[in-house]
Amino acid sequence: MNKITNHMPTAELQALDAAHHMHPFTANAELAKKGARVITRASGVTLTDSEGEEILDAMAGLWCVNIGYGRDELAEAAARQMRELPYYNTFFMSTHVPAIALADKLAELAPGDLNHVFFASGGSEANDTNIRLVRRYWELMGQPEKTVIISRKNAYHGTTMGGASLGGMQGMHAQGGMPIPDIVHINQPHWYLEGGDMDPEEFGLARARELEQKIDELGEGRVAAFIAEPIQGAGGVIVPPDSYWPEITRICAERDILLIVDEVITGFGRTGKWFGTQTYDLKPDIMTVAKGLSSGYAPIGGSIVSDKVAEVIGREEFAHGYTYSGHPVAAAVALENLRILEEEKIVDHVRDVAAPYLAEKWHQLADHPFVGETKIVGMMASLALTADKSVRKPFEAPAGTVGYMVRERCFANNLIMRHVGDRMVVSPPLVMTKADIDVLYERAVKSLDEGYARVKDAGLMKTAD
Ligand code: PLP
Repeated sequence: MNKITNHMPTAELQALDAAHHMHPFTANAELAKKGARVITRASGVTLTDSEGEEILDAMAGLWCVNIGYGRDELAEAAARQMRELPYYNTFFMSTHVPAIALADKLAELAPGDLNHVFFASGGSEANDTNIRLVRRYWELMGQPEKTVIISRKNAYHGTTMGGASLGGMQGMHAQGGMPIPDIVHINQPHWYLEGGDMDPEEFGLARARELEQKIDELGEGRVAAFIAEPIQGAGGVIVPPDSYWPEITRICAERDILLIVDEVITGFGRTGKWFGTQTYDLKPDIMTVAKGLSSGYAPIGGSIVSDKVAEVIGREEFAHGYTYSGHPVAAAVALENLRILEEEKIVDHVRDVAAPYLAEKWHQLADHPFVGETKIVGMMASLALTADKSVRKPFEAPAGTVGYMVRERCFANNLIMRHVGDRMVVSPPLVMTKADIDVLYERAVKSLDEGYARVKDAGLMKTAD
């Protein structure tokens, strides 16, 4: 019998973890030396570890626990569904009530004519579905040579071969022969580090027009779709200049290509509206969702597809599907999560209370000598660490060295804040109160002060030439 429990000494749990558990996105040998922090329970916006420390989770797990931890209603929805129908598939002319109800609810919530849902277990799988969907769409439209998908450098669209190829993370591409064929990347609208002497709006337009240039270079007859996150999340919460999305929207409307908007992070209230698509007035043909769909309580994602695309795809069998597409327990949990988001008016809370207060506090951090810029939309925010506030330049030390040191201080101060290179990011549960945000702010300031002192002591306060 398995005797491993929350009550075991931390060191024993860490040793067992190091012996048998391969962690994602981790140098496992280094982790084995340090020992992973063992999280044992969570409630609201707070995690508890095996030493009894209480940690403020300003990342909502991996950008996903939108309604906060410890909601019994979701546990009950899962238990109810497991007793009634723990599993059935939706292949071969079958269906079940949780999948019907969740697809119906998503069609109601999603803007425009996004009325059809193809389910997956998470965002990577959903983006793999999208590659299949857009290529199949053009085949059925009699244009099978339209296979290329244009994405952006430093985008994140998941970790499967398809998802990581759509993404623009060089470190991922370098490990395993990616991108797969017919996926190309244009530059990102990251003004702070890449804007040079341009003003942000001019730069936003220039970066958007790279889409048009890439379509011209490849030939419109080759391009199937453009995919993008409304705000790049894992890339460092890169908020595009205001000029960026209207220009992309114009180009997509004028050119015969599909637009896939990846809302895996920005969906379900994160930006202060239900979807980032509404925040930026986008007209996607396909929207990717996951994470906040179930607030992370069960693994589920999906592609929400427009009437136009669904009609074409539906003409013949679409040779694609996952064992867990529309899993009844995950679907029941997601439905309960959406009920809570709606009935407790959590999106209104973000718009009216949490996001404005977080923005007020977050922008105060810009006064810190270590901070070059602060950015925030809704409940996702970032700041650039800098050695010299007067220039927009990276540190001389390899990217991420300084960010990692600050992240360590956050961890030590019981604040989960993440670093992406030398940018610090937060994406807290949407239910944060003003009092929670005050704690976040105090711990962030303490961690920045301590990180600043250590970086100075280590002689790392130097800007790259
Ligand atoms: N797309 C975006 C924008 C994401 O941020 C992520 C995960 O962080 C994914 C896709 C992949 O989702 P998953 O990890 O559920 O496969």
